[in-house]
Amino acid sequence: MTAPAISYPRIGLLIDGEWIYDRPTLCEVENPSTEATLGTVPKATEEDLQAALASSARGFETWRKTSPTARAALMRRAAALVRERAEDIAPIFVAESGRTLAEVRAEIERSATFLDWDSEEIRRIYGRIVPTDPPIQQYVIREPVGPVAAFTPWNVPMSAPSRKISASLATGCSVILKPSSDTPATACLFAQCFLDAGLPKGVLNVVFGESDHVSRTLVLSPITRLVTLTGSINVGKHLSRLAVETMKPVLMELGGHAPVLVDDTVDPVEVARLASHWKFRMAGQFCSAASRFLIHEKVYPDFVKALVREAESLKVGDGFMEGVQMGALANRRRLATMEGFVQDAVERGAKIATGGARLGNRGWFFRPTVLADVPLDARVMTEETFGPIAPCMSVGSMDQALEIANSLEMGLAGFVFTNDMATADWLTHELQAGSIALNCFTSPGADAPFGGYRESGIGREGGPEMYQSYTVAKTIAERRV
Ligand code: NAD
Repeated sequence: MTAPAISYPRIGLLIDGEWIYDRPTLCEVENPSTEATLGTVPKATEEDLQAALASSARGFETWRKTSPTARAALMRRAAALVRERAEDIAPIFVAESGRTLAEVRAEIERSATFLDWDSEEIRRIYGRIVPTDPPIQQYVIREPVGPVAAFTPWNVPMSAPSRKISASLATGCSVILKPSSDTPATACLFAQCFLDAGLPKGVLNVVFGESDHVSRTLVLSPITRLVTLTGSINVGKHLSRLAVETMKPVLMELGGHAPVLVDDTVDPVEVARLASHWKFRMAGQFCSAASRFLIHEKVYPDFVKALVREAESLKVGDGFMEGVQMGALANRRRLATMEGFVQDAVERGAKIATGGARLGNRGWFFRPTVLADVPLDARVMTEETFGPIAPCMSVGSMDQALEIANSLEMGLAGFVFTNDMATADWLTHELQAGSIALNCFTSPGADAPFGGYRESGIGREGGPEMYQSYTVAKTIAERRV
């Protein structure tokens, strides 16, 4: 397939149910595969942000009083529209993200599944009755926390907004979304599905603007009651500090550096085949991507050889091309970061087993890269990689692997490969990460909590645990008089 002619939509601010376009330009949107400019993003003014806040306050008053049945019905309609429009949204999503068509189709469907699941779970956001001495009766209800300020990244431009909008709508909250300005159209097309499903105005507002201006205005406002970010640790700390100023809870889904621990009881060739997919999908630009390969010395040579074979077999290119398995990096900055990681690792003694450099001279493509014998002090072993580099290290024992795995301040995901039951039990329990997969690479969907240990985040998205952030408990004691 050749790249279709894209009709890239005009990007607007969604304020109080209306799209606003005539604002100064914040930035241009680039196609990472071609470096072509696709469109521009408008910059919200102070008045726009205040209007979005006021709208969100009104939207909250409407939505919190809307019955759970009506809320669920609207969410199902929105999910149906997302699926109906998937083939119209997908090319735009590919063009602005540089990802493959197959990957974006999967993300669009995943985004709809969050709405499916939350629309069902609405009926199970239970309170409880607390046994109390008569004549007092005491019970606990969960109320929506209030308008939510939600910030989302470029790498998952539909599923991150979906998680946050879906949870807000399920619990009766309104939400102001600040999507990434690198991939704005996908978020706007997603928002349109809610408008077309009949969402009352003000329940969802969408803004773009100078990051610092937007975050200060939305987070410091007394109107918003929850701050949630899917993004980097630094921005997470910044928003959390602001949230403390107005004593707001935060839900932070931040960066990771997932270790992969492989012992000598497994077939290293099969593990490498599975690892290649999880390392190089989305060109490694996802938060639970495999980032450090800690391989038992007995299977290390075979693992590295097999991973190199897998990496070299991948077809890299424009996400529209037939058979492409890995797309581009998001932007020029990511490319420079990858080059820096490789250079630093090599200077410290690592070997480039394959890749290690840019591919071509147009578009932000980087070769699927395997680095062997990477020392622990290499930056790629401690900083979030977010790219198609697989650093491998040989370990003498699984105790050593575990110590290395738990040595960072990040703890989002972890992967264990072993056929020994005792080792499996020990490592899955001792690894310090919010989600662990044993002998497979996967990440929780709508129905199970996902989130980080330590600096990888606060709170959980997915599963009923998510509603802890979007609701507040109220205890009511009552008696008849
Ligand atoms: P980022 O933190 O740079 O940006 C995230 C969002 O915050 C964007 O909308 C951005 O415009 C905004 N932002 C940036 N600076 C801001 C500021 N000073 N004030 C307010 N908002 C600001 O992250 P990114 O580069 O877009 O995304 C990649 C990061 O996201 C990686 O660290 C990745 O691990 C993380 N991520 C985490 C998860 C998860 O579930 N834990 C999922 C996807 C991505």
